[in-house]
Amino acid sequence: MNIHEHQAKAVLKEFGVAVPRGFPAFTVEEAVKAASELGGPVFVVKSQIHAGGRGKGRFEGLGPEAKGGVRVVKSAEEVKTNAAEMLGRVLVTHQTGPKGKQVNRLYIEEGAAIARELYLSLLVDRATSRVAVVASTEGGMDIEDVAHSTPEKIHTIQIDPATGVFPHHGRTLARALGLEGDTAKQAARLLGQLYTAFTAKDMEMLEVNPLVITGDGRVVVLDAKVSF
Ligand code: ADP
Ligand code: MG
Repeated sequence: MNIHEHQAKAVLKEFGVAVPRGFPAFTVEEAVKAASELGGPVFVVKSQIHAGGRGKGRFEGLGPEAKGGVRVVKSAEEVKTNAAEMLGRVLVTHQTGPKGKQVNRLYIEEGAAIARELYLSLLVDRATSRVAVVASTEGGMDIEDVAHSTPEKIHTIQIDPATGVFPHHGRTLARALGLEGDTAKQAARLLGQLYTAFTAKDMEMLEVNPLVITGDGRVVVLDAKVSF
């Protein structure tokens, strides 16, 4: 079973994970209300469909110059016009197949100042009965593409469920992501939180792509995909 990005973020937030503030919206009115609650100055209007690649996706019926399924805007008025354009429309991404998926729900989120985009996922490694943590500095890209073109940029850390996460796992993760100092500490703490959420909720896969480092040095989960 899959859940939407905003639901995945709500679950992760319960475990202390840093996610941007945001509100789901099923109508243009709800999108506008979300924008006023958030206050700006930057908003992101995100299509909630069970498929990735939304940012680079294309809406049916809009020209090739139209923006994709994840739109960064600067005013509540733009949240309104973009929500109106996106809701009810079919979004085609490389993961939806050519038929696409209709967008019936949006997530209105505060915009993050992104300094770096990283990749982090947790999954059950059936061969070893361990939790595999996959990390890469190449965030925002499909991990399959990274694995194909630059496999040396993918790092895997195995966690034994009998003993759980140790500080050395956190240090290995920070090194794999090229983090030092306070961001390294935040990444290590995040690993513990994600691992706890993963096991407590009996997840099969938890993919954070991208995990970002913000301009002011915070480690934030910007996209989350969870399956059970
Ligand atoms: P998808 O993976 O389906 O394309 P993402 O949630 O990863 O959707 O969004 C695509 C891109 O949009 C991200 O890699 C990031 O660059 C940008 N983005 C997403 N959410 C935000 C946000 N809250 N603030 C700033 N940029 C964002
Ligand atoms: Mg993503």
